[in-house]
Amino acid sequence: MPTLAQEWALDRAMAARQTCPLCHVRYPHCLPLKTLGSCWNCSPHAAELAAAHAA
Ligand SMILES: [Zn+2]
Repeated sequence: MPTLAQEWALDRAMAARQTCPLCHVRYPHCLPLKTLGSCWNCSPHAAELAAAHAA
């Protein structure tokens, strides 16, 4: 059973992957930070990428 400290550490790691560095909104899912560097709302490339994925 994980200690409280371990759960906090785990939550911080999760938060880093789920929080947009630009608008600081935490999403319930992991963000594509490696490709977008932000959430879909903030990324200027989001529309292009979405179009590329749809094509
Ligand atoms: Zn954002």
